[in-house]
Amino acid sequence: MNKLIPAIKVKNLSLYYNTQKILEGVSMDIYQDKVTAIIGPSGCGKSTFIKCLNRMNELEAQVQVEGRVEFYNQNIYERRINLNRLRRQVSIVLPKPNLFPMSVYDNVAYGVKILGWRPKVELDEIVESAIKAADLWEEVKNKLHKSALELSGGQQQRLCIARALAVKPKVLLMDEPCFGLDPIASMKVESLIQSLRLRSDLTMVIISHNLQQVTRVSDFTAFFQTNENRIGQMVEFGVTKKIFSNALDARTREYVLARLGCGK
Ligand code: ADP
Repeated sequence: MNKLIPAIKVKNLSLYYNTQKILEGVSMDIYQDKVTAIIGPSGCGKSTFIKCLNRMNELEAQVQVEGRVEFYNQNIYERRINLNRLRRQVSIVLPKPNLFPMSVYDNVAYGVKILGWRPKVELDEIVESAIKAADLWEEVKNKLHKSALELSGGQQQRLCIARALAVKPKVLLMDEPCFGLDPIASMKVESLIQSLRLRSDLTMVIISHNLQQVTRVSDFTAFFQTNENRIGQMVEFGVTKKIFSNALDARTREYVLARLGCGK
């Protein structure tokens, strides 16, 4: 493997929703241009964790954070951080497509327009290239001005990915991107993740309960679990192959074994 450069360094991160401690002492590096998977049982804090990486959870709840999250060496929890810029650079795709009730084109152009006026021809190019990058162009090129809400669930999810890509994020966070999709739609999203993985300018973090999928799409895996006080912790982080074949921690081995049905 080439030299690994951390895009994000998480250092001893703990998080409280109101006064309830949800995550404790999480430390890990998220490497540039690699795919890092976050796995673990429901409720162990996976979504909460990835939303810490672009401070998204502050939009949903009263949050208190201890520790540091450094995005290219800048602590994103510093006061002077520009949150809009951070959330463009570290973009998130949620489990359920959250498109705006607008056309396919306007959904993708939305974030780009907020950044400032551009000539229409330039905007058209950005929209087309983001939709192509999301493997959706052939399916929607004749529907660009129809409502995005008329697309199928899988197409809507790939359109959310196109919308995220249009503002050229450095990191793409994906919280269960195949949630609720049928196997064919799910495979399309997975093959999109594989094609994005080939790019040299995108770091990805993905939460998935489908461990077979995790073995196919990720380079690194972090296993999270709640402790005896029901607080989420990162049990183990490592190269995906190692986590799935020879994890160091017995709790990781047990989880992987139970979910995959075999130890390898
Ligand atoms: P996972 O993604 O692993 O299923 P979550 O991060 O969604 O876990 O949830 C971890 C814990 O945080 C759960 O106990 C959940 O109830 C709690 N939680 C999640 N979101 C909020 C919120 N907005 N306000 C308060 N508690 C929350």
